[in-house]
Amino acid sequence: MSETSSSATTKTSTFVLMIVLIVLALSLVALALAVNAFILGEEIVAGYLLVIGFIAMTLSAYVLLQSRRRVMSMKIENPPMMTTIECKKCGFKSVREFQRGDYVFKELDKCQKCDDKMLITAIYKEVKEKEKTFPF
Ligand SMILES: [Zn+2]
Repeated sequence: MSETSSSATTKTSTFVLMIVLIVLALSLVALALAVNAFILGEEIVAGYLLVIGFIAMTLSAYVLLQSRRRVMSMKIENPPMMTTIECKKCGFKSVREFQRGDYVFKELDKCQKCDDKMLITAIYKEVKEKEKTFPF
């Protein structure tokens, strides 16, 4: 499930990047035309093209920054899966990152303190409280 969502994110960012590059190219064309118009003595046209080129460039830079920030926040919103391991005999508890094949009540290697087998008691996502609050 996480694999499909991450590939979709990559697709979206590639699409955004393509649009940004096109807008950037158009803004460069507008700026080149502005210089050309200025040489030809058409200062009003040159001024318009300069403004269009500048706006397009600012817009593409803004979109690029926004999309990058969104990808970064997506990474933060996807906390790692954690596995809690407990020893029934002595109560020794340890937490490690989720590994493929982990499931609740699965028996693992021997306890570090006693020789009894350890058991997975919980599998959960580590969510930090700070990220739950929304500014709006
Ligand atoms: Zn133990």
